[in-house]
Amino acid sequence: MKTLRLILGDQLNRQHSWFEKIDANTLYLFVEIRQETDYVLHHAQKVLGIFAAMRQFAEELKEQGHQVIYLPIGKTISNHDLIFWIDQILKEYQCEKFAYIEPDEYRLDAQLKVYAQSLTIPSVVVTAEHFLTTRFEVADVFKGQKKWLMETFYRKMRISFNILMNGNKKPIGDKWNFDAENRKPYKGQPPEPNDHRASQDLSLIWQEIQDAQIKTFGNPSEKDFRWPTTRAQALKDLDHFITYRLPYFGDFQDALTLHAWRLFHSFLSFALNTKMLHPLEVIERAQTAYVAGHAPLTSVEGFIRQILGWREYIRGVYWSQMPGYDEKNYLGNIKDLPPWFWTGQTKMQCLSVTIQQSLEHAYAHHIQRLMITGNFALLAGLHPKQVHEWYLGIYIDAFEWVELPNTLGMSQFADGGLLATKPYVSSAAYINKMSDYCKTCHYDWKSKIGANACPMNSLYWDFFDRHQDQLASNPRIGMSYVTLKKMAPEDLAAIKSQAKMLLSKINEL
Ligand SMILES: Cc1cc2nc3c(=O)[nH]c(=O)nc-3n(C[C@H](O)[C@H](O)[C@H](O)COP(=O)(O)OP(=O)(O)OC[C@H]3O[C@@H](n4cnc5c(N)ncnc54)[C@H](O)[C@@H]3O)c2cc1C
Ligand code: SF4
Repeated sequence: MKTLRLILGDQLNRQHSWFEKIDANTLYLFVEIRQETDYVLHHAQKVLGIFAAMRQFAEELKEQGHQVIYLPIGKTISNHDLIFWIDQILKEYQCEKFAYIEPDEYRLDAQLKVYAQSLTIPSVVVTAEHFLTTRFEVADVFKGQKKWLMETFYRKMRISFNILMNGNKKPIGDKWNFDAENRKPYKGQPPEPNDHRASQDLSLIWQEIQDAQIKTFGNPSEKDFRWPTTRAQALKDLDHFITYRLPYFGDFQDALTLHAWRLFHSFLSFALNTKMLHPLEVIERAQTAYVAGHAPLTSVEGFIRQILGWREYIRGVYWSQMPGYDEKNYLGNIKDLPPWFWTGQTKMQCLSVTIQQSLEHAYAHHIQRLMITGNFALLAGLHPKQVHEWYLGIYIDAFEWVELPNTLGMSQFADGGLLATKPYVSSAAYINKMSDYCKTCHYDWKSKIGANACPMNSLYWDFFDRHQDQLASNPRIGMSYVTLKKMAPEDLAAIKSQAKMLLSKINEL
């Protein structure tokens, strides 16, 4: 039976059982399409990286002997709808069956489901063979509960996958979580390892993207592209991380510095999210490094927690909350993003460094995303949906299933605390403790009031005051409300008027 199998741009899993057998009657279809480049404004490197990786994947399948139909962006410009092209190819090649892999985004999942049901030929949907849990497993773990504590889920995952376990009940090191030891500031030692990543010239694909008039932003880096576009490159990146960075990952996981933009982070999210790497192979490599004495438990546990815990948990939150999660706005925030989110041109050094780095590399590490841009957006009351679309566009690893719960839930508290036990906000004191950003900033991190006072400070207290009704009963932030209550009324009034003034000229901060 002649079968058409669709492969989406984030389904580049070489180890998928689909590819075990070569069959002349099975056609693999790849489509580069405006529908997928235009649903938000994307960073140039994201579009470039996905197209390049799709092309490499298709070439590898062809070399293996598989039948491949590849529609590059130049060919699909007359119609931006994915379904149109699937339909065309099904007819042109007289296929008798349509098959696709479960999409990870609700939008595509719904679109393909409706299409498959409308077909007169049989259709089948198969698993991506990538995640360690099913879509609704996390929801099952937390059935009937108001708060979904990631730690509860993470411990179950450690046990069921037998990762860092001493027997089947006790964690190695007698502790499940070394989070408290993952918070050192970085003072320049050890030096950040060199960027070992292969440089690729993707100018030809970039030209095709421009010819198709796809709007993007950020630096395309088309002549010196560094994100992996094949599994072989992704495996080299994994080797590099395990050898040179994992040993220090834990210590400096939360650190921020002007002098090292990557620090000891893995840079594996793009390869993982496009499925070039399998999460279990990454976890097992980290575990082996611990067993071999190459990396300490604090680092290895901290790293494994992100993938075995957070990544799977976040995906489960997404599937349990969609559709409609992207509309949540618990705190009723409605301000537009200031224009400098697209340029990095702000006098606030923490934000200008993070945004400019994101524009340059399509990457910021977790604490930059959470405690710099996310923190400011929440303190300033920016609209969570706009914040979500900005994150979805700018980061190379941003796919809605992982980006949306991180942005809306963890970072913007827009779901009212399903995922985050408290809003992740801080004044300048935290940023100054964790970074060297404040030392050379235009603003004074110690001041709350005055022309040079750091905006984070008055916005921080104004945030708690503004949201008393929604937040004051949360025990995890009780101390902030105790301090707020102790504040002299004239001091609070001065802080609130400073915050009001700052928000009125947010575009010039
Ligand atoms: C507001 C916000 C938006 C985010 N958007 C995305 C996104 O679009 N795509 C994305 O993959 N991650 C997202 N994250 C999570 C995290 O910031 C990135 O996974 C990480 O920065 C990727 O860089 P890395 O590979 O160097 O990660 P490392 O710091 O080396 O961590 C290792 C791996 O753990 C996983 N991981 C770590 N934290 C998380 C998390 N909170 N949720 C899910 N997986 C995690 C990733 O796969 C990552 O590659 C977001 C976090 C925040 C606060
Ligand atoms: S002083 Fe304030 S604005 Fe400047 S870097 Fe520090 S926290 Fe950011």
